[in-house]
Amino acid sequence: MNPSVQQLLAWIAVGRRDLPWRRRRDPYAVWISEIMLQQTRVETVIPYFQRWMERFPTLAALADANQSQVLNAWEGLGYYSRARSLHRAARVVMAEYGGSLPSDVDALRKLPGIGAYTAAAIASIAFGRDEAALDGNIRRVLARLFDIAAPLGSPEFEKTAAALAGEHLPPGSAGDYNQALMELGALICTPRSPDCAHCPVNDLCLAFARGVQTQRPQRKPRKETPHYQVTAAIIHRAGQVFIARRPQQGLLAGLWEFPGGKQQPGESLPQALRREIEEELGVEIEVGEAFGVYQHAYTHFRITLHAFAARLANGREPQPLEHSEIAWVTPGELADYPMGKVDRQIARRLVETAA
Ligand code: SF4
Repeated sequence: MNPSVQQLLAWIAVGRRDLPWRRRRDPYAVWISEIMLQQTRVETVIPYFQRWMERFPTLAALADANQSQVLNAWEGLGYYSRARSLHRAARVVMAEYGGSLPSDVDALRKLPGIGAYTAAAIASIAFGRDEAALDGNIRRVLARLFDIAAPLGSPEFEKTAAALAGEHLPPGSAGDYNQALMELGALICTPRSPDCAHCPVNDLCLAFARGVQTQRPQRKPRKETPHYQVTAAIIHRAGQVFIARRPQQGLLAGLWEFPGGKQQPGESLPQALRREIEEELGVEIEVGEAFGVYQHAYTHFRITLHAFAARLANGREPQPLEHSEIAWVTPGELADYPMGKVDRQIARRLVETAA
């Protein structure tokens, strides 16, 4: 066995963190934890994972749940397509694999929401398959250990990293090896300040030996993130407020929101809101007092959302022209409707002001 691999495996055998999904290595738990951990910190995931396992203790229980229950359990974790894909995949596994996740990478990759990394992680950790997994942590560790100079994400980098990960994979211990690399990246070989003095493989690390560890991996220059001004209407009527459910495709799919949209050049915020409501719901509104300003960053853009109280103005009923469902609810009922972060902040504020 390669010495760096031996050192890594010895290190993880001693220093492995006691995480709830590691106590139960069944494929369902490994799968849920891997999906939750995508773009999300371990500390954030722990309580969600525990609650999820209480609510949906088996793959069959997840498949039986309805989408609102699943989105409710996910609420606050972000990147909601992960939850919708988990739910769809659970139903596919019930229908096509008799309720047990398949163990080979090709079959796993055909399931909704499972990409190359997640398939390799599940196959190696839950089923002991000899598969190398490559996520952000592992890419960074490999770039440093082997001093890969090609920029991260370039075809050359991907080819080199995949070849190195596969070359050093210890047969029969791929799951531990993948986890050791992930753990090293999460705890010691961190993006900005790798703790090389305490690294179990510092004697073998080429980037450390050459003093270039913080320059690896090389990054492509970042594009500036667009920032949009967005409006939302809290339409009141007889003690209730109006909410609408987003379509099943696209950003925040299937979640409920206070309707509204982006301000266009030359529009005031109330003008933007009246136009959006007319386009989305076919009704006119009177825009009233401001109800807070909310900031949020999505993956590729940021928004500043301006919420306003509003009333229907032309006697017509809103129609779901661009939404999949609409509802009038009391502030107390809003908790039953899964929402994105900003809409939930507005909903909480509504409950507080109604109390
Ligand atoms: Fe990362 Fe430093 Fe260890 Fe190299 S020596 S793998 S740069 S922590």
